[in-house]
Amino acid sequence: MTTVESNGLIDNANQAPFPDADVLDVVSLLDPAEQEQLLKIRGHLQRNVRKQVIDYWNSEAFPFEMLPALGDLGLGELVVSNYSCLFRGLVYAEVARVDVSLCALVGIHNELIVGMIDQLGSDAQRAQWLDKLRRFEAIGCFAMTEPDHGSDVAGGMETTATKTANGWVIHGEKRWIGGGTFADFALVWARDTATDTVKGFLVPMDSPGVTANKISNKIGLRIMQNADIFFDHVEISDADALPGAAEFSAANDMLRNSRIWVGWQAYGAQLHTFDVARDYVLGRTQFGQPLAKFQLVQQDLAEMISNAMASFGLMQQVARLQAEGRVEMVHAAMAKSTGSRMLRDSAAKARNMLGGNGTVSTYEAAKIFTDAEIVHTYEGTYEINSLIVARAVTGMSSFV
Ligand SMILES: Cc1cc2nc3c(=O)[nH]c(=O)nc-3n(C[C@H](O)[C@H](O)[C@H](O)COP(=O)(O)OP(=O)(O)OC[C@H]3O[C@@H](n4cnc5c(N)ncnc54)[C@H](O)[C@@H]3O)c2cc1C
Repeated sequence: MTTVESNGLIDNANQAPFPDADVLDVVSLLDPAEQEQLLKIRGHLQRNVRKQVIDYWNSEAFPFEMLPALGDLGLGELVVSNYSCLFRGLVYAEVARVDVSLCALVGIHNELIVGMIDQLGSDAQRAQWLDKLRRFEAIGCFAMTEPDHGSDVAGGMETTATKTANGWVIHGEKRWIGGGTFADFALVWARDTATDTVKGFLVPMDSPGVTANKISNKIGLRIMQNADIFFDHVEISDADALPGAAEFSAANDMLRNSRIWVGWQAYGAQLHTFDVARDYVLGRTQFGQPLAKFQLVQQDLAEMISNAMASFGLMQQVARLQAEGRVEMVHAAMAKSTGSRMLRDSAAKARNMLGGNGTVSTYEAAKIFTDAEIVHTYEGTYEINSLIVARAVTGMSSFV
């Protein structure tokens, strides 16, 4: 008979492993109300989302019908409710533990859309959008990257905003914009032609002159509809400018927080790779034994769960600094780069552990394996985030 010890581990090496991979008893760090809510969210995602999203991933479609339930569970209002930073991060991880694309939607929605309108918007913009956004009845997309400017977009941005008598004219091209094909508005960053400063605007996607074309055939994040968006002399009113975003540095805190969200995403996706790999090797027999009994397989599993727990340790401290108002870009960059490096490692191990089945998206390992490539690249590439960490510890910048 299996006895579960007080630390949650199993005392009999030959018995079934403890079910949720929470080796460090992470959930116990939350207060009882948040624990209950997190387990409710986990239950919904595991039962109603995890397997169901695979077909959407295969067909590069977005599961709109899943959004109302996520809204009911509070996933549309994580940054404007009284949740702890740790809870918010663990919710992102639970979403990534079933699907990286949905986690991207929830993360961008909270950190870069709801957070920015709440912090940088006018009273009228908050009144117009926040309630609907909280319930996912409205969606915004975050339009910063351009075809010719990715890593250097802050300094190189070419999209322009020109002041007119009654408002602004936005002109330029954005690339990779998540949700760009179905968003109600785009939060667009553009260079003021008069002052050369980069400012933020809310541009309705049905404005004359806006065209969004889906980027098809991505190897990962296939559920998220990324788009090339063209703004051809788009006229908006003065009321569409974000009053708090009159210069790019106003967005620094939120851009830093969104990088932290990706650290949580990487942690959650590592748990997913572990869940998939462990279930598979416990069930699959070769040479008359479960794969899970072979030492080389056990080594990989041990490294995967240890990677995940190490990621958690980093993220927990980042959440603490965030709660205390002491978090800086170096912490966010370390969270994002380290989490994505470990995710890549674990996702490759899981894909291999499933053998041929690890190459088929239905078994999930291949899906996480390719989604991990996107986590490695977006929200500042792995290299750029590493250089931010290195700049902090050397005092020398290797890039501008
Ligand atoms: C699926 C997906 C979703 C995305 N969603 C959004 C979104 O919703 N909104 C948005 O605005 N953007 C989004 N992005 C854009 C993303 O943030 C950029 O792709 C990323 O910043 C990298 O820019 P880039 O692709 O132009 O690569 P580049 O900047 O051209 O970099 C190419 C390579 O060169 C390396 N490199 C660049 N400069 C240096 C340097 N100084 N030193 C060393 N190496 C360097 C990079 O690390 C990378 O490996 C998304 C991207 C993807 C792939």
